[in-house]
Formats: sequence, C-alpha cells, structure tokens
Amino acid sequence: MANSRAIKGIDDVPMWASMERGRLELQRCDDCSAFRYPPAPVCPKCLSAHATWTPVSGKGTILSWVIFHRKYFDDHVPPYNSTAVQLDEGPIIVTQLQGPEPEGSWIGRRVELAYGEHAGRIQHHALLTDEPSVAAEASQ
Ligand SMILES: [Zn+2]
Repeated sequence: MANSRAIKGIDDVPMWASMERGRLELQRCDDCSAFRYPPAPVCPKCLSAHATWTPVSGKGTILSWVIFHRKYFDDHVPPYNSTAVQLDEGPIIVTQLQGPEPEGSWIGRRVELAYGEHAGRIQHHALLTDEPSVAAEASQ
C-alpha cells in the first residue's frame, strides 16, 4: 500500500507532532483499517505491524466524565474535568472539556477537539458543538 510503513521508534511521537500542526493523527491499520489508540507497534485487532498516520475528524461523543476536586498533578489545578470521548473513527480518548459545560447530562453530548498549550506542549481539549446528543457506541 502506498504511504504505508511499519511504525518504528517511540510509538506516540507522530501523534504529538500532529497536534503541533493543529490536528490529531492516529495510526490506521494498513491491513484491517482500524484506528489504533493509544499508539502501539502492532494492531490490537489483527496484529499487523503496518499502519499509516491518518488525521481523524476530531469529532466525537462524550462517554463519561469526572470532575477532580483534589490536586493530583502540579499542572492540573482543581477543579478540572477529565472526559472520555469516543471519536467518530472509533477510538476512545481522554481529554478535558473546556468552555461551556453541558446543561443536564454530559453523556452523549457531541464535542469537537481543539488544541492549545498545556504543561509546555500542545495538547487536545474538547469543546461542545451544537450537534444533538447521540447514544454513544462503545466498541472496546
Ligand atoms: Zn489491523
């Protein structure tokens, strides 16, 4: 397959580099097309070592969230949320919802990733969209 290559070295370096460019790229398996997250040397579904870094839409649905009121990390000042988002491409990522919080349940709310500096590097966070809530489909 053109543009395909075996992933070598530290698995998540290209993902962080993609966020420096204002988007999220994840490994997409060259053999079964599954998106892979967290980055890994082989596909957890078919064990292929071949993948292509592919941009995701950045759109997803909130599966769960928690608000931390206690300080565990110097770079996370409470209160802050930790939000599980299932990307439209399938992988589940943990990010932080910023901006307005949902009224009522957070579950099923549509979000879109945005990027900004946190703790010295560009990281993703989520922003609510105007899209209607949907039932999330956990695939893992
Ligand atoms: Zn695969």
